[in-house]
Amino acid sequence: MNRIITIANQKGGVGKTTTAVNLAACLAAAGKKTLLIDLDPQANATSGLGLDKRLIAKSIYDGIINSTPIDQILVHTFVPLLDLLPANDQLNGAQVELVEIENREFLLQQAINSIKNSYDYILIDTPPSLGLLTVNALVAGNKILIPLQCEYYALEGFAKLLETIELVKSSLNPELAILGIILTMYDSRTNLSSQVADEVRQHFGDRVFKTVIPRSIRLSEAPGFGKPIIFYDFRSSGAEAYIKLTQEVIEREETSAR
Ligand code: ATP
Ligand code: MG
Repeated sequence: MNRIITIANQKGGVGKTTTAVNLAACLAAAGKKTLLIDLDPQANATSGLGLDKRLIAKSIYDGIINSTPIDQILVHTFVPLLDLLPANDQLNGAQVELVEIENREFLLQQAINSIKNSYDYILIDTPPSLGLLTVNALVAGNKILIPLQCEYYALEGFAKLLETIELVKSSLNPELAILGIILTMYDSRTNLSSQVADEVRQHFGDRVFKTVIPRSIRLSEAPGFGKPIIFYDFRSSGAEAYIKLTQEVIEREETSAR
């Protein structure tokens, strides 16, 4: 069964990439063959796995715009069982170029069709916008994971995100469903974090993962070393949290009757 999880929230800096990289690494460490697709021109997931985006010969841009075969783009990362479809600056152009192309919402889905059965999990990291790259990710995926930062205005723009999901569902990808909401950058020293968390849980109940990702310096340092947290500081609270989140994701995906 394909489990293709798009990590999306058009709000910037809420922990999409951190969640994408660390969940991907933890899934791989749990023995799941995993592919991470970096669909953000910032290429933070690519560099977070230790690759220099300036040295990427072919990126996911070529896969969706030039129909370059995916096996020419695919990179095996240093993490066993974890592959990457990297991004680079060229992807900036795609946002504009896609507008002119027929079937523009389906290009990522088509690009990964030939390899999707080779993986247990595919994760897609998206840019902070609801533009065509994110729409491509929502069409290619069957689940959405939404990171929400435990801050004021956490839910700002959330209605628009849900609206976009509904639109994609009704017109482009009927099987799309929300896998869950993950609360990120939780600071146990402040009341604000717990207030936001309570409020989000009141609104969205079981859709919110039990695991909460703490604010942790180690998590923010790890990308600078090109490593997921479990390879940077396995004993840190951030590593522990992403391992727990991974268990919850596997539970939701593999034990739910579908
Ligand atoms: P963008 O919208 O720009 O793609 P994003 O949603 O992908 O951003 P991240 O890049 O994952 O967000 O995180 C934003 C910043 O916050 C990064 O510098 C990251 O290292 C840091 N960060 C993410 N999660 C945590 C955390 N739990 N604790 C501390 N810092 C974090
Ligand atoms: Mg990001």
